Amino acid sequence: MAHLIQKDECTNCGACEEVCPVECISEVDEKRFIDPDACIDCGACIEVCPVTCILAPEE
Ligand code: SF4
Ligand code: SF4
Repeated sequence: MAHLIQKDECTNCGACEEVCPVECISEVDEKRFIDPDACIDCGACIEVCPVTCILAPEE
């Protein structure tokens, strides 16, 4: 499982992309998208999202 951006709430601000250490966040259809195969679940993106629309994988 990887971190997931809730598309409807994402404002496409780009803050998450700037902090992702593995650069697995990119822009798709004017939203940011996390590549689930590349995400290492570090949680850095969650910390910076101004609208808290990124979900951690369920335990
Ligand atoms: S959890 Fe870490 S690796 Fe995954 S998208 Fe967020 S910043 Fe990138
Ligand atoms: S930080 Fe949040 S609102 Fe901004 S682009 Fe990333 S997921 Fe979207």
